[in-house]
Amino acid sequence: MCRSTYVLHPPSPVAHRLNCNFRAVPLSYLPVMNSNSRTMRIALTTVIFAVTCGLPATAQRELSGAAETRVALEKLTVTGSVMMIAAHPDDENTALLAYFARGRKVRTAYLSLTRGEGGQNLIGSEQGDALGVIRTQELLAARKIDGAQQFFTRAIDFGFTKTPQEAFEKWGHDKILSDVVWVIRRFQPDVIVLRFSGTPRDGHGQHQASAILGREAFSAAADPNRFPEQLKWVKPWQAKRLMWNAFSFTREQEQETEKMKGRIDIDLGEYDPVLGYSYGEIAGMSRSMHKSQGMGTFERKGTQKNSLVTVAGDVAVHDVFDDIDITWSRVRGGDAVGAVLNEACRNFQDQHPEKVLPLLLQARAKMTDMHDPIVERKRTEVDEAIALASGLSIEATADKYEAVPGGSFKITRTVINRQSVPMQWNGKDLSRNAPSTAVDNVPILASEPYSQPYWLREPKQGDTYTVPDQLLIGLPDTPPVIESEFHIRVDGQEIDYKRAAIYRWADRVLGERERPLEVVPPVAVNAPAKAILFPTGSARDVDVELKATAGPVAGELRVEAPSGWKIEPSTRSFQIGDTGQESVLRFHVIPPGSDARGALKASVDAGGRTVAVGMEIIDYPHIPPQILFPPSDTKLVRADVKLLSKNIGYIMGAGDEVPDSLRQLGAEVTLLSPDDLAKSNLSRYDAIVTGVRAYNTRPDLRANEQRLLDYMQNGGTVVVQYNTTEGGPGGDRPSPALAHLGPYPMTISHDRVTVEEAPMKFVDASSPLLHRPNEITERDFEGWIQERGLYFASKWAPEYHTVFETHDPNEKPLLGSTLWTPYGKGAYVFTGLSFFRELPAGVPGAYRLFANFLSAGK
Ligand SMILES: [Zn+2]
Repeated sequence: MCRSTYVLHPPSPVAHRLNCNFRAVPLSYLPVMNSNSRTMRIALTTVIFAVTCGLPATAQRELSGAAETRVALEKLTVTGSVMMIAAHPDDENTALLAYFARGRKVRTAYLSLTRGEGGQNLIGSEQGDALGVIRTQELLAARKIDGAQQFFTRAIDFGFTKTPQEAFEKWGHDKILSDVVWVIRRFQPDVIVLRFSGTPRDGHGQHQASAILGREAFSAAADPNRFPEQLKWVKPWQAKRLMWNAFSFTREQEQETEKMKGRIDIDLGEYDPVLGYSYGEIAGMSRSMHKSQGMGTFERKGTQKNSLVTVAGDVAVHDVFDDIDITWSRVRGGDAVGAVLNEACRNFQDQHPEKVLPLLLQARAKMTDMHDPIVERKRTEVDEAIALASGLSIEATADKYEAVPGGSFKITRTVINRQSVPMQWNGKDLSRNAPSTAVDNVPILASEPYSQPYWLREPKQGDTYTVPDQLLIGLPDTPPVIESEFHIRVDGQEIDYKRAAIYRWADRVLGERERPLEVVPPVAVNAPAKAILFPTGSARDVDVELKATAGPVAGELRVEAPSGWKIEPSTRSFQIGDTGQESVLRFHVIPPGSDARGALKASVDAGGRTVAVGMEIIDYPHIPPQILFPPSDTKLVRADVKLLSKNIGYIMGAGDEVPDSLRQLGAEVTLLSPDDLAKSNLSRYDAIVTGVRAYNTRPDLRANEQRLLDYMQNGGTVVVQYNTTEGGPGGDRPSPALAHLGPYPMTISHDRVTVEEAPMKFVDASSPLLHRPNEITERDFEGWIQERGLYFASKWAPEYHTVFETHDPNEKPLLGSTLWTPYGKGAYVFTGLSFFRELPAGVPGAYRLFANFLSAGK
């Protein structure tokens, strides 16, 4: 074979591939897009295949066959491009993306500054890094439906902020600007669309920041003196115009927008007879992929007006692409290619897609000596259109989804010529509809790093990711571990196809599923928790869990204690019989006498390497399974916390890790099912706690309101954590359950305190919540993470007592973070403070305060 059949990634996957295509390689050319999509076809060809590839589980919506081919052919004739910029997963206007990608058939991208790490998770307990990984995959799933590509910067969503200045302080203005410029220079959009205005009307400070950076990047990308270090790989790029996708919250804002010069109105409700949907309907499907944010929504039919306003560059008068040639004529010598591709479109017959092949091959031959980034991209699209029109199926599958460094995957490459077009592969004719395969053993280098998402490989710098390889910056996902190459001859022309190797299996409920290949350690060293609290001076046993990933493994587990702490023993040997089996090793940890903090570090020496990472598996039906490799470290916290309530019932809502935290205090925690709540004897619990968003997600809570009232009447304590103002089960109206949040009326609002250091004023110094059993002082509010709290009460009945006043800088004082009232012989506490973040992070003051809440009725 004259060329290698496999490309192994990393260490420097993109660089490897770029050696031969050094300058101005368009992003769509890099086979890393959607690398773990359900069908790997998409890897190289998001643009052309975007219509149909790998729609997630709801496969009945998949566009395929003639419609798919027709759309791909039409797209070949269009050379325009557009990029939308905003701050978060879900900021994007999916209808507008669908209109551009599906309707106008231009290359379309969404650049989200962040991966949405700071939001709340509606489907599970993942937060931070893991939530960012989920949202990344949700965006990729959405893009497969609306047809756009996805990009990110290194910025991390650090939570809600009211000003763009705070965002720039946390991210570093120039660092994120350079990323926006970089993605623009690589994608080369004709038009850039901002989702936000860059003013306080955008709400979130990160929204404002996205528009401010977008404006600056519009000109900076074209200026060779800005970020000149990028010019090693890319050229300066001047987009024709910068537009704002105007939105209006109020009638005044609407009138303002209507008066703006250079406004283009678009009907996003336009029906596309080839797709069988309107862009509004596609937008609904796409948006509903944002499941971790609870963005499930209607697929709207009918007219849907939307406006775009030019904010920089040449003002558009009639159309977004005014004065931009989006045909082949913009390329030198492109007219001839365009003519042939247009003819292919005109001659397309549903029954005989293969009849356009001679024209596609003719266009391809004409492109051979043309050197232009547009042609480079189109060449790949034409090759994929040839595969589509000829019914050619190409794939690479592995015998397993995990391998260790130094191990190997058995890769089966399969080509099926599903029509009668003469083709050859590996020197043999491909006969009609007969699978032709080649099996290879592909070794994984011993130096290969684990398949950690590329943005999580290095320690973060503040609120940005560290990505040493410039060529990875901006990419939505990590390049695949193995990419297979196929050289197929069609009518005398050799066409190279690339496919990421994937693992495929049949789930008995969900049907066929796929996942990316992963390089994993031989054994995962799973730390006992993110943080362990020692509420008294007593020693505790902690368990480190080892899991074999690649056959039997034996070795030594070592646990290092911080100074002042003792761990017995410091090493233990282990032996695990087979893949998937676990061994739990117990260590005795003796804390120092007084308050202290440190890190317990666990590591294993096995098979000649040291492993100091665990494995966190994220598996939801709407995205491919994801694996993270968190360090095997545990934060140890020694702080006195007294707890009077030992037996706690917990009503889990959207998902949080508070029950495990309460167990660390020495409490026994029982998760209450709807059945338990309705029927079991609640009086055996000292306190009942509702998890985050429990009233939004558990209709049984409302149904059993009287049972909770009776429970308090008889001496029980109920502690209610935050709920959102909307998103009641099955609708977007305020949840009726919120009307019954407490024993007396209260109204929940959007009030929140986003600055984690915001002063907490004690408004009722004699409140028992501040004294029993733990004496609360200002020190207990030190070291909080991300925020103070959210969805505070804004109005409440006079029976409630307030405890704290807190607010963000320059905002009005808020008293509704915590309310409490005696009720019968018991007590009720409402708190919007973010215990779901602070407790798992091991913040001692949060533990002490929460322990007091649990004891309110004592
Ligand atoms: Zn947002």
